[in-house]
Amino acid sequence: MSARVLDGAAIAAQIRAEARQECERLRRLGALPRLAVVLAGNNPASEIYVRSKIKACAEVGIESEKLTPPATATTAELIAAVEGLNARADVDGILVQLPLPAQVNARQVLEQLAPEKDVDGLHPANLGKLLSGREGLAPCTPAGILQILKRSGIELAGREAVVVGRSELVGKPAALLLLAENATVTLCHSRTRDLAAVCRRAEILVAAMGRPALLGRDYLRPGVVVIDVGTNRLSEKSAVETYFPGDGKRQAEFERRGSTLIGDVDPRAARALASAYTPVPGGVGPLTVAMLMSNTLAAARLRRGLAQE
Ligand code: NAP
Repeated sequence: MSARVLDGAAIAAQIRAEARQECERLRRLGALPRLAVVLAGNNPASEIYVRSKIKACAEVGIESEKLTPPATATTAELIAAVEGLNARADVDGILVQLPLPAQVNARQVLEQLAPEKDVDGLHPANLGKLLSGREGLAPCTPAGILQILKRSGIELAGREAVVVGRSELVGKPAALLLLAENATVTLCHSRTRDLAAVCRRAEILVAAMGRPALLGRDYLRPGVVVIDVGTNRLSEKSAVETYFPGDGKRQAEFERRGSTLIGDVDPRAARALASAYTPVPGGVGPLTVAMLMSNTLAAARLRRGLAQE
């Protein structure tokens, strides 16, 4: 069976183009959608993520701004920053880039976000809306997973979906979104017994563990649709040769950068057994920023009581 590659970059580009049109429409209605990003400290990966989010805003037409509290910021200082943004009428979306510096209580900071501006969908009020099937802001990565599945024409109702990983950021909300689409959902974690047997039941398998290529052939039912959220760095040449045999592009990338990305599913097993799979990189990753754009526009609409076109 030759597996279809689910091209997340193309789907994300489509969503961003739709967001551009929606942003123009909102601007014509007198709304200037605006995202504020709080980037505390100087985590290099966070700086890259925030740069790409600000760039995406510019492309879509969303106003943006960045607050940069120092690495020494306290929980109280970050709460004060969030409260300031909550109070501003011109700010539609607030994103607190994670991880926060170690001395900060991230949960306390996120709980201070005005739920209607919480474009990352991590406030308990938004997670509660997800649980009860009401309109709210869903976390970006799981919302992106749903977009990949739907826009690729993959049937969900009545099908067996297995999600591996139960974080609040990815696994749990992904399971709830699949359930809302009437899939029969199993949610697995590090204490699941015989993970391979449970995964083999899956017609849709969502892997979100952060364990490089852990899910191999024994975990995949032939014909499964694999959504690989895992983003892991391989920095051993022998591992790159094992997982990407004969892939000159990968190996050249490894030589250039000293590492390459791999998901939680063994790419050789996905190619051999799946009917469709998301590659890493270029699968789920690009959707996260695209969904942040859609969520910011949804927040702008919801706050102003405007309907979606
Ligand atoms: P996380 O908070 O560390 O959660 C990992 C989950 O996987 C936990 O629920 C853990 O179980 C489970 N797990 C770990 N090892 C396992 C094993 N051997 N068997 C079964 N379950 C296991 O991670 P996360 O934030 O959800 O992220 C997961 C992965 O997705 C990471 O690689 C991350 O980089 C990636 N990610 C990608 C994007 C994107 O845009 N592409 C966005 C977010 C995250 P317990 O609960 O029992 O500990």
